[in-house]
Amino acid sequence: MKSTSFLLLLAAGIGVGSRAIAPAQEALQFGAATYSTAHREWILPLQIRGPLSYRLEWSTNLVDWAAAYSGSGSGTLLHTSTPSARILSQFYRARQLEDASALTGDHFPTADGEAVIHPIHHASLLLAWQGRAIYSDPVNTNLLQGLPKADLILLTHTHSDHLDAAALNFLRTTRTVVAAPRDVYNTLSASLKTNTLVLTNGAATNALGVRIEAVPMYNLTTATPFHVKGAGNGYLLTLGGRRIYISGDTENSPEMKALKDIDVAFLSVNQPYSMTVSQAVNDVNAFLPGIVYPFHHSGTDVLPLKRQLEANPAVEVRLRKWY
Ligand SMILES: [Zn+2]
Ligand SMILES: [Zn+2]
Repeated sequence: MKSTSFLLLLAAGIGVGSRAIAPAQEALQFGAATYSTAHREWILPLQIRGPLSYRLEWSTNLVDWAAAYSGSGSGTLLHTSTPSARILSQFYRARQLEDASALTGDHFPTADGEAVIHPIHHASLLLAWQGRAIYSDPVNTNLLQGLPKADLILLTHTHSDHLDAAALNFLRTTRTVVAAPRDVYNTLSASLKTNTLVLTNGAATNALGVRIEAVPMYNLTTATPFHVKGAGNGYLLTLGGRRIYISGDTENSPEMKALKDIDVAFLSVNQPYSMTVSQAVNDVNAFLPGIVYPFHHSGTDVLPLKRQLEANPAVEVRLRKWY
């Protein structure tokens, strides 16, 4: 029988503590959780006699469980949990998975199954949903080894940290659909062009059950803008009733601030190419995405972004490993 381990976690502000409520198991075992005041989140160590794949799930009542994360590895792996003022206590359990090659990442419920968010590097990310692999700005073939072939690829603009012909050739199949602005389309190979939907700012299309809307991405405050309005696309995806926004390299445009009902937002945070931390804080407070992933942040410290937004209970900022 596969191993399962349980942990009870009390939300900060209600009580501070954690307790393992099941005896140590052979393969998976929680260590004592600690609260990081710097990051304002719980650190949950999971001790794994592996290598193996596992699924971390959470519950408020020990009856209804939702997946939080899938991972793989061995040794002590650290997970984070941002306490919610709305939840008095959280239970976590970790279960060993039969499928040793399960995609790692945060799980996200939709009306049509779970989506998995898998950060790759910088601006490159993979969303897995309904057996489909949806990439945004995949670059660097070395970082794509072991990942699934692409069903859908979103390309934001022509900069080399977003567009890499070798990576596209590595991920594509004859059925892969690409969505891109005209400037990107013009750089693609003839064979890839035949599978590419060209979207201008404000245009929308449907592909593989996903609604794709192109949102402008551009600089407003830099004297010589790295990104001119109209050349690139951010994307608003709707899948399984959930709305996911991928900003592209943009500053705090009025189009972004006007977005509504965003469940997950990936925000590019590094001036002079994209947002400053304070711009991002203002934007998030304006359009209130439920979950924010700062990415494309390179040398910018995004911890202040999390701290400045912690007073807003509508928003959870997730700092993940993009580098
Ligand atoms: Zn750029
Ligand atoms: Zn960039």
